[in-house]
Amino acid sequence: MAEAILNQPQFQEVDKAREYMEALRWPNGPVCPHCGSAGQHYKLEGKAHRPGLWKCKDCREQFTVTVGTLFADSKVPLNKWLQACYLMSVSKNGVSAKQLERMLGVTYKTAWFMGHCIREAMTGSHDALVGGDGGSVEVDETYRRNTGKQAKGARGYAHKMKVVSVVERNGHKRSFHVANVAAATVRPILKAQISEKARLMTDATAVYKKIGRKCSEYSVVTLVPASAPTGT
Ligand SMILES: [Zn+2]
Repeated sequence: MAEAILNQPQFQEVDKAREYMEALRWPNGPVCPHCGSAGQHYKLEGKAHRPGLWKCKDCREQFTVTVGTLFADSKVPLNKWLQACYLMSVSKNGVSAKQLERMLGVTYKTAWFMGHCIREAMTGSHDALVGGDGGSVEVDETYRRNTGKQAKGARGYAHKMKVVSVVERNGHKRSFHVANVAAATVRPILKAQISEKARLMTDATAVYKKIGRKCSEYSVVTLVPASAPTGT
């Protein structure tokens, strides 16, 4: 039975695998992982670009569907990753690296690495939390202009989309659309993303205080212009 399912195109062809993932991850069209903008991004096509590359219409950064996933920057074709995920999710007794090596036609080392990553992602281990190594994590909120038609004529912040971002020391960023930046909305998101071992830095917004106190270190960053007098 597993064999019949593995004959499906998303497990056999890398392009189909990518389309399959795009449909799963972006049911309402691509979402930029850099700034959180959703909507009509540009699909970069032609020989100059690797397949599946998008360009954000707002922040102009490029991205693919695998950015921010365990499949990002992998030399293993995406369809093989999907096969491995499938095999591991249906197996009651687990799948050994030896089995993956044979079934996927990859080296033992690669199979071991894939199994390790998938298991970690499936169990939602604490390593997946940002700042779990005691590193610094920054949280900030941004307001993006909503380019949707219904927003025309609205004033102030009301017509802008709010995005809360969690930024790791290495520059990796996880962004979340929020209805508002009230504590009740933002706190559960941050709690699910940030390790208590993190050294948290936020702006002075009171929303972050409670979660900040739970982290190993908490500091409030006030943005001061570089040219500001030092007061001496
Ligand atoms: Zn963007």
